[in-house]
Amino acid sequence: MVAQIIDGKAFAARLRERVGEQAAKFEGLAGRKAGLAVVLVGEDPASQVYVRSKHKATVAANMESFEHRLPAETTEADLLALVDQLNADQTVDGILVQLPLPAHLDEKAVIASISPDKDVDGFHVTNAGRLAVGQSGFVPCTPMGCMMLLADRLGDLSGLEAVVIGRSNIVGKPMAQLLLDANATVTIAHSRTKDLAGVVKRADIVVAAVGRAEMVKAEWLKEGATVIDVGINRLPPEPGADKGRLVGDVDYAGAQSVAAAITPVPGGVGPMTIAVLLRNTLIAAYRNEGLDLPDGAL
Ligand code: NAD
Repeated sequence: MVAQIIDGKAFAARLRERVGEQAAKFEGLAGRKAGLAVVLVGEDPASQVYVRSKHKATVAANMESFEHRLPAETTEADLLALVDQLNADQTVDGILVQLPLPAHLDEKAVIASISPDKDVDGFHVTNAGRLAVGQSGFVPCTPMGCMMLLADRLGDLSGLEAVVIGRSNIVGKPMAQLLLDANATVTIAHSRTKDLAGVVKRADIVVAAVGRAEMVKAEWLKEGATVIDVGINRLPPEPGADKGRLVGDVDYAGAQSVAAAITPVPGGVGPMTIAVLLRNTLIAAYRNEGLDLPDGAL
């Protein structure tokens, strides 16, 4: 068997295009653009790159991007005051506070201060609760993106065995909820799981969200499994190179001869995250204006 490559980059580009079309329609209906506010505190280089690409993608999708860059020494009171102001601003549909925050700021308190109806990252406990009980809210972007790739690839997931490796609040847990909602039989594996190889062996769907380079071995996989690799890990540089290669949590080369389909790293799950963020922002905008997004538009 030679695994098919699940092209997340192309899928994400198509999703961004659909969002852009619907965002232009939204502007016609509402008389304003859908707006995403991104707050960055401090100068973490990786966060700066993420914020810049979110800004570019937002503008390219016919939406308004409001950037708020605050110094690293910003007080929690000042940050909470900004979030309050964004909560009240009718032109802001989505609010994203880029994590991690500097150590003196309480991430939980800051996320809790975002209006759940503008929480397009889906990190607020209200949205986690909505997902848990099957109410519509906002689902974290990365697992939502994984789910879209799986639905596109496999259609109905009913009765399939799914194993999610990792139990973080932003990837593993919401991923498991989404799979459960889609009627898969779901196992969440984590750092204390005994016989991880044995658990993975029974999975028709494997979602790896650990953060350990090539940890999931080809021989752990069931023949014909569909593999979604969320991990982003940089290997040590080869002699003479200044940067190491990016790899996922799965032995990609080995998995090729066992899996039916697999996402590459980079170019698989990664590009889906921003595309889903834009989608969530547009949904927030339609909801905030009391408008219905056309069925199946996104
Ligand atoms: P995290 O560190 O919060 O969680 C990792 C999880 O892996 C934990 O729940 C832990 O129990 C589990 N784990 C650790 N060691 C393990 C082991 N030996 N066996 C089994 N499970 C083990 O990480 P996260 O935020 O969920 O991110 C996971 C990975 O996904 C990282 O590589 C991150 O960079 C990547 N990620 C990518 C995107 C994207 O593509 N846009 C978004 C978020 C995270």
